Amino acid sequence: MVGPLSQKLFAKAKTVIPGGVNSPVRAFKNVDGDPFFVRRAQGSRITDVDDKTYIDYIGTWGPAILGHSPIQLTQTIHEVAKDGVSFGAPCPWEIEMAQTIVDWVPSVQKVRMTNSGTEATMSAIRLARGFTGRDKVIKFDGCYHGHVDHLLVAAGSGALTHGEPDSAGVPKDFSNQTIVLPYNDFEAIQTVFDSIGDQVAAIILEPFPANAGFVFPREGYLEFLREITTKHGTVLIFDEVMTGFRVAKGGVQELVGVTPDLTCMGKVIGGGLPVGAFGGRADIMDCVAPIGPVYQAGTLSGNPLAMAAGLAQLKALEAADGYNQLEKTGARLEAGIRGLLKENGLDFTFHRVGSMFCLFFTGKEIWNVNDVNGADMEAFKRFFWALLDDGVYIAPSPYETGFISLAHSTGDIDDTLDAMSKAFKVI
Ligand SMILES: *Cc1c(COP(=O)(O)O)cnc(C)c1O
Repeated sequence: MVGPLSQKLFAKAKTVIPGGVNSPVRAFKNVDGDPFFVRRAQGSRITDVDDKTYIDYIGTWGPAILGHSPIQLTQTIHEVAKDGVSFGAPCPWEIEMAQTIVDWVPSVQKVRMTNSGTEATMSAIRLARGFTGRDKVIKFDGCYHGHVDHLLVAAGSGALTHGEPDSAGVPKDFSNQTIVLPYNDFEAIQTVFDSIGDQVAAIILEPFPANAGFVFPREGYLEFLREITTKHGTVLIFDEVMTGFRVAKGGVQELVGVTPDLTCMGKVIGGGLPVGAFGGRADIMDCVAPIGPVYQAGTLSGNPLAMAAGLAQLKALEAADGYNQLEKTGARLEAGIRGLLKENGLDFTFHRVGSMFCLFFTGKEIWNVNDVNGADMEAFKRFFWALLDDGVYIAPSPYETGFISLAHSTGDIDDTLDAMSKAFKVI
């Protein structure tokens, strides 16, 4: 249970904001409770309005890879803001950001900035359709790509049946253009391409799905998707909004050596400001307006404040040898959790790459969202609340990934493991 002031604010918020929140997961519905309201966040810690401080493993859902309000970011934001926060005209920051993305992300030759990950995936889908002259899109059950109409689609009853709207307000005609398949299923993909491969504009996926727990591709799966899309002239889109600049400088595509045609980015590149981007092969990107027929725009896209903040974050990461440091911290947490599981006779599955991790409350192997659905959700809830009471804040849903930042010290990890040691006893 959260403190009295948070409870009071939530009651007030609900009178003027739908559900009291500006994004649904924040409402704590998946853990049967009410959220706390945040006063401030610094380093690895987040402090609520009742003055309770938590070690934070959400990091504003991924962006805070340096930790909260790092000096490199806050200073940059102050400095840049003095000269203006948005121009609606080209500024040098945009070129530096684009060049950095091109240098870091293997698939990207040209890139367009947006203001959110949702805009990035929406634009990438439109671009793939405009480039190929085809309408159909394949997505995977359990992969999240923001709240784009065509991607808020749930699986139909078979590989070749069309998806069903997964939200009120999405026309059936839209979901008819989307085919939803189980992730990691080679045959389902083969079946679709064998029959209608020449109608598929794009496959969009999270190469490591991180919005249904944290799931890895089976051996050869991403290579298989690369091969079959190349063969059929389908655009392969990696949605690396979560994994980009997080699992490695160049995201999953750098780690696994599979290069998509387009990549969607967000979260870490904005340093906590509202930023997204999509980029990829120059011949495809050149189909975007003003030089191509695919319209895409944004009043605040590429604004100097967001560009400078994002660049400051990326530079600080590099200067701190960030990815190696995060791997060390992640390994310490992983070793501790695996030790606790053993001690408590629990056979739970644990996944981690660098600073991203997920503990599944099941001993089953996890290959897609169906496997995640089989986890013990009630045990997860008890674990969540025990940790929160003890000052450790993990995502309020068993379908989310955990994030470590550079601000997490070994002391933070050890305190977290102490809290987990107690929490495992009460699940
Ligand atoms: C967060 C996320 C998005 C949506 O980004 P927003 O900035 O919330 O619109 C899209 N794809 C993935 C993989 C994400 O994790």
